[in-house]
Amino acid sequence: MRETDESIPTPNADGLTKRERLHWHLTSALASAESPETKAHLRGALVEYRKLPPTPLVECPFCGKVGLPERIQAHECQRP
Ligand SMILES: [Zn+2]
Repeated sequence: MRETDESIPTPNADGLTKRERLHWHLTSALASAESPETKAHLRGALVEYRKLPPTPLVECPFCGKVGLPERIQAHECQRP
């Protein structure tokens, strides 16, 4: 666990894409929200989140591994 600027603990950020972190923050906020209005906003945000276009997968030019751009950038390349 590491902390963000707002001192909110987040799951291992390195293992998650930006999109997964966004979803995590939204669902966590929804789980702890008490105001009905706040919950409505967070549910709205999750609906919009689901409408986001899918991230296109990319292929590593060296080893051929296919995945999300963030994953490919960070992968341990098995370059022959
Ligand atoms: Zn590679």
